[in-house]
Amino acid sequence: MKRPPSSYSLKRRKQPKRKRLRVAETIPVVGTAGNVYEVVVLENGKVRCPCKGFRYRSECRHLLDPEVRDASSSRGPTKRPYGEVAALATWLAGAILPCCRKVKIMGSLRRQRPMVKDIDIVFVPGVASTQQVVNLFRTFGRPVHHGDSMGAIVTPAGIAAQLWPVEAEEVWGAAQLHFTGPRDYNISLRIRANRRGWKLSQHGLVERASERLIAGKTEEEVLAALDLPWLPPTLRDDHRRAKVLRVGRRTRLRPPGKGF
Ligand SMILES: [Zn+2]
Repeated sequence: MKRPPSSYSLKRRKQPKRKRLRVAETIPVVGTAGNVYEVVVLENGKVRCPCKGFRYRSECRHLLDPEVRDASSSRGPTKRPYGEVAALATWLAGAILPCCRKVKIMGSLRRQRPMVKDIDIVFVPGVASTQQVVNLFRTFGRPVHHGDSMGAIVTPAGIAAQLWPVEAEEVWGAAQLHFTGPRDYNISLRIRANRRGWKLSQHGLVERASERLIAGKTEEEVLAALDLPWLPPTLRDDHRRAKVLRVGRRTRLRPPGKGF
């Protein structure tokens, strides 16, 4: 008689194998106590430190060593000054604009980071279909990804650019939040949504049980549903310091004059 599969084996699906990154070089870094740590630089420019005592080994102080940073930036995708990338992004966005209802530049460009790695553009299709816009976009550089609904190219200037379709204007705001980032701001928002039984993604703020769309049309609407104020993109990299995630019902500003 066949045994019914345990819930464990039902849950456990085969995960696609992750590509193992080759170690490009190791750099010895001398710590404060004179210990030497062999910092590993991977082929994609990511760095890892073998030191103990840090929760996130990819964030330890040894990785801030100038030599490690140099080795890392020479391998990873090179960042370029904001102005240079912004000009190219504006051109790309302008070129697809006539076929679209909405086009907007996202990512670190929208956050106006001084150095930018690549370009992210979102659009809502208009007179042309999603596929037509993507096909047009792919002619602006060397296509690197052949997914059917997104365009990813490397422009002749060597800057990578991604084009993401947003199918419905009802989730335009949610898509903007998602593609503007940065990652840890998005994660904080998602955790907050999860705690309320909702789920947040580029497809909107959705009630988990019923799949009902709670908010999504504008960033303000999504953030307001989470009891958060809208945060200008330029401040999102610093959202923890801005403490905006805590503003809301939980903490109130003290009335003036009543001690600190
Ligand atoms: Zn370390």
